[in-house]
Amino acid sequence: MRGYSSDEPAGPSTPNALSRGFGVLGDEWTLFLLRFALLGCRRYTEFSTRMPISHAVLSGRLDTLVRSGLMARHEYQQRPPRAEYVLTDSGRATWPILTAIWGWERTWVHEHSYETPPMRHITCGQETTPVLTCRECHRPVAVQDLDTAWGPTGGWRSSVPEVATRRRSSTRGAAVGHTFYPDTMAIFGNRWSWALMGAALLGVRRFSEFEAALGLPPSLLSGRLSTLREHGIIEQVTGESAAERSEYRLTAKGLAFFPVIAMTIGWSERWFGSDEGPALIQTHRACGARFAGELTCDQCGEPLRGTSIDLSALDSTS
Ligand SMILES: [Zn+2]
Ligand SMILES: [Zn+2]
Repeated sequence: MRGYSSDEPAGPSTPNALSRGFGVLGDEWTLFLLRFALLGCRRYTEFSTRMPISHAVLSGRLDTLVRSGLMARHEYQQRPPRAEYVLTDSGRATWPILTAIWGWERTWVHEHSYETPPMRHITCGQETTPVLTCRECHRPVAVQDLDTAWGPTGGWRSSVPEVATRRRSSTRGAAVGHTFYPDTMAIFGNRWSWALMGAALLGVRRFSEFEAALGLPPSLLSGRLSTLREHGIIEQVTGESAAERSEYRLTAKGLAFFPVIAMTIGWSERWFGSDEGPALIQTHRACGARFAGELTCDQCGEPLRGTSIDLSALDSTS
């Protein structure tokens, strides 16, 4: 497992920044709400008219976003009473994650039940695809360019979102049958899938290694692996021996999801980080710096900013 130390920190496993960050964002409606909030929506009706969402689900998600600190609820004493949901700094800081998802979906997912219009970089005027780069040396970064080790709050058990923080399946049900980002949600929408994806990105390949790392029952593990395979994110190695056939590796499409994971890790550590230290310590081998990711424009090479991307094309409900 090149570049990855599997030694987990000793001590009890308590939910860390990754568990909390991926727990909040691993929900399709939440991603949609953030997307519309970044486009300027604030009022309940501005959200409800843009999404085929029930009132119960919408209020539940808005409450969760407020509780998690991504939105603040402002009430206005007027008739009828009015409330606005305003993004906080941590909520606004999700834009690179949504931008990375958008870029991946546009490049790798060709059957959409909705449109994926291009994203324009206002600085250069070109249609842009975000590229993950190192903030220190500005080189493009793929997962194999990093050395990764667990930090003081790391370990798989601590990094998987808790069941208690997940929405019940009945309230998630509204998105079933009308999934906008089925490929993204195959990775993001299940607490084990992102952990599995993380393990695969770090070089775990064998069924038994996934089992040992994540502590997952085999039936659950094969289920999650099948889902990722159906979406073309992971593939089973075709080999002669049984040992080879128990190996899985990420496809090009799976590897290309790394910017989404990297930006989510960075965001989670920034906003849910612990005084005891980070969950993961990643070093960019080429420059030796502690890795912090940044998205740049593939056309002009300049860093993308929340204000330098024309998101207006995203403001469609179809
Ligand atoms: Zn670097
Ligand atoms: Zn550009």
